[in-house]
Amino acid sequence: MIVAERKPFEEIKAMVKGYSKVLTLGCGTCVAVCLAGGEKEVGILNAELKMARKLDNNPIELGAVTLERQCDMEFLDELEDTVGEYDALLSMACGAGIQFLAERYPEIPVLPAVNTAFIGVNKDVGWYEERCRGCGDCVLDRTAGICPVTMCAKGLFNGPCGGTNQGSCEINTDQPCAWFMIYERLAKQDRLSNITSIFPPADWRNQTPRTVIQPGYKERQKA
Ligand code: SF4
Ligand code: SF4
Repeated sequence: MIVAERKPFEEIKAMVKGYSKVLTLGCGTCVAVCLAGGEKEVGILNAELKMARKLDNNPIELGAVTLERQCDMEFLDELEDTVGEYDALLSMACGAGIQFLAERYPEIPVLPAVNTAFIGVNKDVGWYEERCRGCGDCVLDRTAGICPVTMCAKGLFNGPCGGTNQGSCEINTDQPCAWFMIYERLAKQDRLSNITSIFPPADWRNQTPRTVIQPGYKERQKA
């Protein structure tokens, strides 16, 4: 899932300072699962903002809506009759959802209430770890399911850098060396031959915005 965290309250408060009627928008998917921007977090943020603005003698009127997904036009339709009543939209979705909202309502300022962090996994309640950087050319079949782009501090594709120290990364000793882990797991699977051949230079595909059209929909998008 996409993992995000709420921005510091003072930053959000400063962002909405000039607005007196703001609609806070949660998203019911990734940011809700990682406890950053779902319905509950919208309620908490609005309560904090309301209180802070009251104390500043600058009251604010806040609306709250949590859409099933902010990154899907179909769900944005729900806002059609509501957004016009507000001075600004405060989105708690990931960066994609925030941008889609801004694209749909270009006449209204759209403000981000969360920082989108990474694509990751849920290790325990409230604990998330990065696992993928969306490079667009997945090599996990060759690296025993361990991502060298994300897990190696130098993003190396052809074995360790030489700084591996007893299984730890030289950049951060709290972090296991990705290539040590790859070696160990491939050895367990008797697949070490995977890393004796050289990976060609990566064809980085994540430097410009990308598009995916699934095979069954290519004709529809051509029309
Ligand atoms: S190799 Fe690329 S697509 Fe695969 S997990 Fe790593 S960053 Fe993600
Ligand atoms: S020690 Fe291992 S994880 Fe760290 S940069 Fe070198 S190869 Fe990558």
